[in-house]
Amino acid sequence: MKLYNIKENDEQVSFGQAVRQGLGRNQGLFFPAELPQFEDIDSLLAEDFISRSTKILSALIGDELSKEKVAEMVGNAFQFPAPIKAVKDGVYALELFHGPTLAFKDFGGRFMAQSLAAVSDGGKITILTATSGDTGAAVAHAFYGMENINVVILYPKGKISPLQEKLFCTLGKNIHTVAINSDFDACQALVKKAFDDEPLRQQVGLNSANSINIARLMAQICYYFEAASQMSKAERENLVISVPSGNFGNLTAGLLAKALGLPVKRFIAATNANDTVPRYLETGKWDPKPTVATTSNAMDVSQPNNWPRIEELCRIKDWGLETLGRGAVRDDESAAEAVRELNKLGYLCEPHGSIAYRVLEEQRSADETGLFLCTAHPAKFKEVVDSILESDIELPAPLAKHAAMDLLSLNFDADFAQLRELLVKVSG
Ligand SMILES: *Cc1c(COP(=O)(O)O)cnc(C)c1O
Repeated sequence: MKLYNIKENDEQVSFGQAVRQGLGRNQGLFFPAELPQFEDIDSLLAEDFISRSTKILSALIGDELSKEKVAEMVGNAFQFPAPIKAVKDGVYALELFHGPTLAFKDFGGRFMAQSLAAVSDGGKITILTATSGDTGAAVAHAFYGMENINVVILYPKGKISPLQEKLFCTLGKNIHTVAINSDFDACQALVKKAFDDEPLRQQVGLNSANSINIARLMAQICYYFEAASQMSKAERENLVISVPSGNFGNLTAGLLAKALGLPVKRFIAATNANDTVPRYLETGKWDPKPTVATTSNAMDVSQPNNWPRIEELCRIKDWGLETLGRGAVRDDESAAEAVRELNKLGYLCEPHGSIAYRVLEEQRSADETGLFLCTAHPAKFKEVVDSILESDIELPAPLAKHAAMDLLSLNFDADFAQLRELLVKVSG
């Protein structure tokens, strides 16, 4: 597989390099130089999730990894289903929350972990990442127990939900978590300091495993095919997909699925009040505003870092940006109303998925099949969902199990010397 840097086109890398490096020069994102085309989509869709995903990812990766190796990686990464559920006539929810951390980030995080292990030269790898919740949990679970890889996760003490904290700070083994006595920005600043420390970088094999890594997007392509495979041919040939978006990785993956041949009539970019992209698509002006906090907090992003990939893909495929659907649910009360509406239809959904549902239903015509992505399990946003529905929803098994375990986190001030010492110690 060859990829190029969108900002500095002369920088070309292999899949292995792109996975190890994450970003290219000048903070440029990597993009595939060639996109394979699947002609016989019906027979591809007739395959099971694992063998179909192996075919897709193997076609993308090319001869850099054997098909057997890719099959093994996919088998290890995708150990949970991505079912669609009918919520009403012509509308389906795609449930992406059946993995260990109950959010779609498990697909990308786990495939990235497999990819990094597959392309590493056998040297030590230390993943260092700062999290405000979801990403840390997915990364911790994805790398848990892997040989030669240590993970250090920083988070702001007392500023993530107690349930979130339990989900990734109770693992032990190669997962080291540190509650920093400060805010998220201070955690990110510590991570940046570590990456700027070249001797440290070399010594411990530092890697960030962050969300712009191409391996994550590649994994996410697969569940769009999986969703279509569960529909009749007539339904899927008139398909409109609404994606609740923050950094726009999920939407990028969906558009890549379409570029590989999946017949999707239209995608809709759905956001909350952080609506830089919908406004840009209306006015042609890129005008990010300060980020506002909402009940769909994983979408509280005003400068989405995957957007350049969407522009690049649309340019290559000659898809006018105006063909992208877009919409925003700009206040929490409207998001709550959508949660209630779904609940009346017998479907329990948290605010992220409900925003995608709302925008879909505003824009879908009666003859179209609608699909909205449910990016997190409702129990992951228990406080919000319970207050909207006046309910007391049950914790699913993985959350309940971790909620009962002891926290293993260390606790530091935002002090780089202490972090450096820890990184050297865990990698030794
Ligand atoms: C990360 C996340 C999103 C946003 O996904 P992007 O790929 O960043 O657009 C939406 N919902 C949930 C629950 C998330 O964790």
